[in-house]
Amino acid sequence: MKIGALKEAFPGEARVAMTPDSALQLQKLGHMCFVESGGGAGAGISDAAYTAAGVNIVPDAAALFAATDVVVKVRPPTEGEVGHLRQGQTLISFFWPAQNPELLDLCRDKGATVIAMDMVPRISRAQKMDALSSMANIAGYRAVIEAGNHFGRFFTGQVTAAGKVPPAKMLVVGAGVAGLAAIGTATSLGAITYAFDVRPEVAEQIESMGAQFVLLEFEQTQDGAATGGYAAPSSPEFRDKQLAKFRELAPEIDIVITTALIPGRPAPKLWTADMVAAMKPGSVIVDLAAERGGNCDLTVPDEKVVSDNGVTIVGYTDFPSRMAAQASTLYANNVRHFLTDLTPAKDGVIHHNMDDDVIRGATVTHQGAVTYPPPPPKVQ
Ligand code: NAD
Repeated sequence: MKIGALKEAFPGEARVAMTPDSALQLQKLGHMCFVESGGGAGAGISDAAYTAAGVNIVPDAAALFAATDVVVKVRPPTEGEVGHLRQGQTLISFFWPAQNPELLDLCRDKGATVIAMDMVPRISRAQKMDALSSMANIAGYRAVIEAGNHFGRFFTGQVTAAGKVPPAKMLVVGAGVAGLAAIGTATSLGAITYAFDVRPEVAEQIESMGAQFVLLEFEQTQDGAATGGYAAPSSPEFRDKQLAKFRELAPEIDIVITTALIPGRPAPKLWTADMVAAMKPGSVIVDLAAERGGNCDLTVPDEKVVSDNGVTIVGYTDFPSRMAAQASTLYANNVRHFLTDLTPAKDGVIHHNMDDDVIRGATVTHQGAVTYPPPPPKVQ
C-alpha cells in the first residue's frame, strides 16, 4: 500500500506522523512511503532526510491524498483535509470521536476508514501503539523542564562556598502517565517531590520513583478510584479533605504540576485562587489539564500568566509539540506498530481485521458506517 504523512495544518503544530526510521520499517512491511514537502521541518527532519530513507516527497496535501491509500497525521483532520478523502481510503490520526461527531459523519460520508489513535484500547498488547501514553510521558517531562525555566532557583539543594541552597519542593497532583513522568524528572533533578492521586494503587509507583505520597486522613484510603484504572469524581467530603491538605502545603511548595483528569469531564478544580495567593513569590504552577479547563483556578489555556503575588501559572496545551523531534519519533512508532498489525502477512496488503480488539477499538468509521463507540474489549 501507499502510505503518506501530511504536513500538520494546525497553527504551531510541529509534530509529524512519519519519520525516516518509521518509513524504513513500513517499507519492510512491503509499503511505499510518501510525505508532504516540509512535513517534518518542525521536528527537524528535512525532505532530503526522508528521500534518503526512500520516502517520496509530494508538493501539497491534495497530491498526498491523491497518491496514497493510507494517510497518517497527528491532529484530527481539518474539514479541508476530509474533503480530499476518498472511498476506501484510510486515515490514521488523533480524532477524539466523542468531541467531533460532525467530523466523524463527514468521514463516514466519504466512505473512508478512520483509525483514531486516541481510541487504541489501553491493554498490555496495545502498549506499543498507545500514543496517549507516549504524548503524556513527554508532557510530564516537559512540564518539569518548563517549570525550571520559570523558577529562579535550583531544583537540587547545594552547599557552596557562597552559601547553602535549599532544594525545591515540588507537588505533582495526579499520578497517571504524565504525573509519573513529571515525578521521575523532578526527582532526578533533585527536587523534593510529593505526589497525590485519588487512586490508592499508585502510591507504590509514586514512592518507587522517589517521591512521597500525600496521604489523606479519610475513612477510605483514598476516594474516586473507578474501574478500568481511571479516576471517577471524588465525593464532596473527600474533595474538602484534599483541598484542606493542599491549602496546608501551599506556602511550602515551590512548584506544582497538575495533571488530574477524569475521562469525559472537565478538569476538577484542585488548586484554588487562595492556594495560589498563599504560595511564595517566584513559585511556579504548570497545569497539564489546561486543555480541559485546568486544575488551577487561575490557569489561562495556552498562556503563561503571573499572579498578583508573583506566582507564574503555565497553561500551555502543546507540550508534546514543544518537543516535536521526540514526540514525532514516538508517535510515528506508535502509528507504525498499528500498521504492522494491519499488515499481518508483511506483504504490503492491509487486512483490516475487525475481529481484532485493538483494530476494532480504534476504528471509528469503516465501510460507510460510524463504528464508534466500539464494544468493550474482550482482553483486559
Ligand atoms: P489521566 O490523564 O486520565 O488522569 C491523570 C491522573 O489524574 C490519573 O492518575 C487520575 O487518577 C488522577 N486524578 C483524577 N482526579 C483526581 C483528583 N481529584 N485528584 C488527584 N488526582 C486525580 O490518566 P492516564 O495517564 O491516562 O492514566 C489513567 C489510567 O490508565 C492509569 O491507571 C494508567 O495506569 C492506565 N493506563 C494503562 C495503560 C495500559 O495498560 N496500556 C496505558 C496508559 C495508562
